[in-house]
Amino acid sequence: MPKLPLRYYCYVCGQSNDLELDVPLAPKMNRDEIKCENCGDVTHLLHTSCPKCKSAFRYFLSDLNFPDEIRALSEAYVKLIAGVRDSLKDHVKEFNVPVPKRWSVNLSCDCGEEYSAEISLPQLQD
Ligand SMILES: [Zn+2]
Ligand SMILES: [Zn+2]
Repeated sequence: MPKLPLRYYCYVCGQSNDLELDVPLAPKMNRDEIKCENCGDVTHLLHTSCPKCKSAFRYFLSDLNFPDEIRALSEAYVKLIAGVRDSLKDHVKEFNVPVPKRWSVNLSCDCGEEYSAEISLPQLQD
């Protein structure tokens, strides 16, 4: 795994925090929580890197715990569908609703590579 040294300045207090992250190659994506050493403010970081040149890092900072938000929404959706399916099971033989398998983002690298990174989502269980 490539290592990414990152100096991050806290949005709240301005403290600089030095980090070293293990960055996966796309389509894998890692999630880290960065906690400011000074004020304890937490920022969520998603990061990945170009699978071709393995040197260009992409990262996304967010105050929201973005992957967890997406997963929670997706989970609610899956449960809703499962409920509908179960209530219909005496009446319909087969019940198929396509559920997105992953959330993905398209990225392009300076080396010319177009790639995507993704987070897998909860699936409908039998
Ligand atoms: Zn801070
Ligand atoms: Zn690249």
